[in-house]
Amino acid sequence: MQQTASRHISGQVLPATAERTETAAHAGNRQALWQTLFFRPNGRLNQEQGQALARILLAATGCAIFLVIGRFGYGETPFLVTLVYLLGSALHLSFVTRHKNRYLWRRYIVIVLDLGLATYVTAYFENAGVAFYPLFLWVMVGNGIRYGQHYMQFATLLGLLGFSGALATSGLLSSQPGTYIGLMFGLVLMPKFFLVMIDRLTEANSKLQAQRDEAEFMATHDVLTGLPNRAYLHTRIHQSLARAKRGQRELTIAFIDLDAFKEINDSFGHEYGDFLLAQVAEAMKSVVRESDTVARLGGDEFVVVIEDSEDGPGADTLIERLFSCVGRYYSIGEYETFVTWSCGLVVYPRDGNDVHTLLKHADTAMYAAKEKGPNHFVFYDPSMSQQVSDQLALRDELRQALDRGQLEVYYQPIVDACSGRVSSAEALLRWNHPQRGLLSPTQFIEIAEHSGLITPIGRWVVGEALATAALWQAVSDEPVTMHVNVSAHQLRMDSFVDEIRELIDASGLPSCVLDLEVTESALLQDVGRAEQLLVQLREIGVRVALDDFGTGFSSLSYLKRLPVDVIKVDKSFIDEVPANVRDCALVDAVLTLGDRLDHAIVAEGVETESQRDWLVMHGCRYLQGFLFSRPVPRPRFLDLTDAVFETAPTAVASVGS
Ligand code: C2E
Ligand code: CA
Ligand code: CA
Repeated sequence: MQQTASRHISGQVLPATAERTETAAHAGNRQALWQTLFFRPNGRLNQEQGQALARILLAATGCAIFLVIGRFGYGETPFLVTLVYLLGSALHLSFVTRHKNRYLWRRYIVIVLDLGLATYVTAYFENAGVAFYPLFLWVMVGNGIRYGQHYMQFATLLGLLGFSGALATSGLLSSQPGTYIGLMFGLVLMPKFFLVMIDRLTEANSKLQAQRDEAEFMATHDVLTGLPNRAYLHTRIHQSLARAKRGQRELTIAFIDLDAFKEINDSFGHEYGDFLLAQVAEAMKSVVRESDTVARLGGDEFVVVIEDSEDGPGADTLIERLFSCVGRYYSIGEYETFVTWSCGLVVYPRDGNDVHTLLKHADTAMYAAKEKGPNHFVFYDPSMSQQVSDQLALRDELRQALDRGQLEVYYQPIVDACSGRVSSAEALLRWNHPQRGLLSPTQFIEIAEHSGLITPIGRWVVGEALATAALWQAVSDEPVTMHVNVSAHQLRMDSFVDEIRELIDASGLPSCVLDLEVTESALLQDVGRAEQLLVQLREIGVRVALDDFGTGFSSLSYLKRLPVDVIKVDKSFIDEVPANVRDCALVDAVLTLGDRLDHAIVAEGVETESQRDWLVMHGCRYLQGFLFSRPVPRPRFLDLTDAVFETAPTAVASVGS
């Protein structure tokens, strides 16, 4: 909007086309004069050239007529004057063609030449003085319209002098003083009248122009940030590309996406989200140079186009500046929020030759940057395209997987070393993909989280697990606890606890049948909220297990603060037990901790008998791993109701509480 106001609006009645063609015309001004005068291979004549040419034709016709009718021969003054005018006009034309600057004096000379001729003609044809009055007016007003008001005033002054001189010498002053005075008045007033008219026209013209500019601005810019929009960005990249191609330079395009903008929008409201976007846009604009383009593609996506230039900072420097300037704290209302972003980069000509390809690849690189976590920038690499399109295809297929019954829950038993029987099971998601076969959650859970699909899928897993627990209960005298994995995304949902309660109520089972597995990192994203959530879950009777324990950065103080019931020691610690003394010491410490703080400890990834024996000997009561069973589909899991696993017969007695 501000840009419209500050934009220069041409006040001339004759619009900028003349200027444009003029500059274009001078592209070829190094060619020979005769060539540029009469033969212009790829351009129209500009306005001034056209006028000069018209004068040449007029004067040449005059010369020819004089010669043909034989009234004025070679030596006669009228013929000579016409000839001089012809030569002057030719000189003018060649000058206009060769020199691109619009010298002021050139116009004044043209006016003087025109009026000089009009004066001479008037004076020469003594009796025809009155008839030449319109000629004077035409010259003056014509010059005013052509060159602007200033020239018109100049022309009027000259005209007044010349015309009065001509009329005085033609004898009109002495024979008809009234007519003479009337003509003089007319000569002053008529141009004045035209001046006013031109003023009005100019005003109307500039208003129209402003309206047109504003409409154009609205169509090409994003209203919220005032940045060029998607359509206009394409035009800008086209132009930049053309320049880069001509100058054989590089062009860098940065595709930027704010991280977690959706969460900001959800938690603070759209108004704040918009406000933040405007601030980010300002920050970006302040970093780049005038010649660079910052555009908003929509949502929280921005594109910065950086042209390579010899002077000023290079693309690398600018991108680093963008990073430090944009990724920072922003205040929205009374809140402060830290904004991070992901950025994909492409460089012309390496990564593409046209706008479409470059933008597509930049988007791909941005996607790869997102995978790396917040505040990363990544240059495009051709192998990314395949990966990204695979991921996108997988995301689209995942949307339908649930409805099409392609998802399935497998169950991996957790064995109680005291009894050797299955005490609980971990529900693990599987995707029976029609083309790719059975997919492990590591291949699609992240996609589900990014796309928000994890919410319906997670709910479905809980429902399935509860149904399995009910079936188990029906055939076994021992109850089973179902461990279900919950991602950070699900925990952030306000309705999470309510949904869990509804699912348990619907199953008709006691709530202690459910144990939600949460990773340390998911809880640590917002410890205050996590604490509240765990308390609420405890209130409804659902237990919580700390998954992958030891792999995050949890401190003992969090362990004290967060009311978890079960700790699952990560497989990476179990792998080298009992050979690795350090791992043994760590696992031993966790077991002691669990014992003292009254947390049940589950060892994950138990694959060998020696691991099992060591764990049981050191007081680990619950064991999970391939040694006992891989994750299996529901029917095979239900077959385990009566199974008794061998759990270190030598040491069962030493197992603690
Ligand atoms: P996790 O929670 O750590 O689950 C344990 C993983 O270790 C499972 O992999 C399991 O098959 C594997 N595992 C168990 N015992 C052994 C063993 O003895 N040796 C080896 N090498 N591996 C063992 P899976 O099923 O591929 O699941 C991978 C991850 O996907 C899980 O890690 C969990 O974080 C996530 N996940 C699974 N199902 C769900 C779900 O329904 N929702 C959410 N949000 N995440 C899920
Ligand atoms: Ca787990
Ligand atoms: Ca785990």
